[in-house]
Amino acid sequence: MAVAVKTFDKLRDAVAALGADAGARYLGGGTLLVRDLNEGDLAVTALVRTTDRGIGEIRPSGSRITLGAGVTMAQVAAHPDLRFLKPVASSIGGPAIRNMATVGGNLFAPYPFGDFTVALLALDGGVSVQTGHSGREIPLEDFLASADRASRVVVSAVTFRRPDADRNFRFLKLSRTRPKGPPVLSIAAHLVASGARVQSARIAYGAMAPTAMRAKAVEAALAGKNLDEAGIAAALAVATQGCAPQTDAYASEWYRREVLPVHLRRLLLG
Ligand SMILES: Cc1cc2nc3c(=O)[nH]c(=O)nc-3n(C[C@H](O)[C@H](O)[C@H](O)COP(=O)(O)OP(=O)(O)OC[C@H]3O[C@@H](n4cnc5c(N)ncnc54)[C@H](O)[C@@H]3O)c2cc1C
Repeated sequence: MAVAVKTFDKLRDAVAALGADAGARYLGGGTLLVRDLNEGDLAVTALVRTTDRGIGEIRPSGSRITLGAGVTMAQVAAHPDLRFLKPVASSIGGPAIRNMATVGGNLFAPYPFGDFTVALLALDGGVSVQTGHSGREIPLEDFLASADRASRVVVSAVTFRRPDADRNFRFLKLSRTRPKGPPVLSIAAHLVASGARVQSARIAYGAMAPTAMRAKAVEAALAGKNLDEAGIAAALAVATQGCAPQTDAYASEWYRREVLPVHLRRLLLG
């Protein structure tokens, strides 16, 4: 069966087209969706895309940065104001994938994918969703847990906090595929410190639960502590609290739990 590709100038028209056809899917970069189609997903009858300018915009000014949902990993990696995110964007697939893979699509990527989403969660991310003619912004954490994600509403943009200094943001991804590959796990941390002492920490994990998750016990254990062996001991002791990793082709659930504290230690000690 032929699959129609429908292109709209305005995002709101794309949203209307999706609402009118249960078989229509929103097309980001297509790295997952087109692969599914090529593999014979018969549920998809149409691909809906938009050339709306806002969807590709990068607005890096101010304390909160906005990325249109259609911004690609290659664009993030190349942007001079987004240097702190380069290790994250550069860790996703190879060059061909990064040229197409979008920030919006990453929010919907199935386990164990979603590395960029992990970074957004550590940076207090928010998601703008478009419904009909109106839009609304919701915290990323709520979005990941909500029916919105399951019902595939259209995301127009993401926003997140700019770290005061690039060094306050750290990212680590463990993969068994070289040079780049799907994550065994990923960790992102936004650490605000006064001297050596952590004032506040926001830590997110990828592949340690069905979607990206906050490590709230670790965050609490780090507050007021120094980033040295003694200071992080309590955080490492609760590193896997709340985690529900899965077994897949890349790692077992057991292995992910075992190696998480090892890599969290490396990330925190820098
Ligand atoms: C070889 C390979 C390697 C990969 N490596 C990694 C990796 O290392 N890390 C990682 O995180 N991911 C990886 N991925 C997964 C994927 O490429 C990325 O997660 C990418 O960001 C998905 O974005 P996309 O624009 O290509 O999504 P698409 O394929 O276009 O869409 C995926 C799903 O999201 C929906 N969607 C897309 N954009 C929106 C939007 N704005 N609003 C609502 N719904 C939307 C689509 O309808 C579809 O259901 C890999 C994929 C491949 C094929």
